Amino acid sequence: MDFNINYDKDKFDNSEEITIQDLNKRTIRTNKITFKINALDSKRKLKKDIKKVIKYKKWLEIKKEININVYNYKKDNLLIVNFVNLVEAIAKAKNIKDLYNRVYVLACDYLDLHFYSKNVCDFCDNKCGGKQGTDSVTGCCHYFANPLGPLGFKYKLVTCKYLQEDGRCSIKSIGCKLFTCDYLNKKGVKFRIRDMFVLDTIFNPIQKVMLVIATYTPQEITVNRLLKVPNLKFVNKFFINK
Ligand code: SF4
Ligand code: SF4
Repeated sequence: MDFNINYDKDKFDNSEEITIQDLNKRTIRTNKITFKINALDSKRKLKKDIKKVIKYKKWLEIKKEININVYNYKKDNLLIVNFVNLVEAIAKAKNIKDLYNRVYVLACDYLDLHFYSKNVCDFCDNKCGGKQGTDSVTGCCHYFANPLGPLGFKYKLVTCKYLQEDGRCSIKSIGCKLFTCDYLNKKGVKFRIRDMFVLDTIFNPIQKVMLVIATYTPQEITVNRLLKVPNLKFVNKFFINK
């Protein structure tokens, strides 16, 4: 499937455009479909559109070409970028696990964009802002472990096994990416799932808690855990037995 997202109105082919709410048994019967999206739409309206995309998913996934023309787009409108990425993820997902994996990666990329590109943690000389004045060069990538096992009471601080020598993480752990320490909270930085369109739209309250607590955990393990919770929202209905 060719999936094209256009933000530049000079390049729009708007001859056969429809809105997502125009999807019905008649409009879905073409090889190519072009949606027009208004970047000024509210989050509520966009969530309604996602429900409709899920409803027509099995027809969308066999389209040869899907185009999305985004009107009124302004740089930094991350809500609309996330919305469009989610439409693509739903249209292309082969099954519910594939959808969860795609959504997981979208959320991680969104958080990385904030943390790395804007140096939110104020890294300087390998040391983050929260650890300035200390010897720690591992940020918050450590935890207390009990080397004596469940019967022991001696805890010591150990570095996370996924932290590489270059200071980067070797896995995508969404719980870690969502975590903000006191230093960041004082700066006013806090990532809540309800502010993250893709996670908020797809997952139910139990799954959202699972995402927040999935620290030090690779993507595959977290996604497998999410799959064990029935998603009563609307997602499962359209991916059953796939
Ligand atoms: S979240 Fe806090 S402790 Fe962790 S790397 Fe960022 S500033 Fe440092
Ligand atoms: S899993 Fe979490 S704690 Fe471990 S290296 Fe990655 S970000 Fe740091």
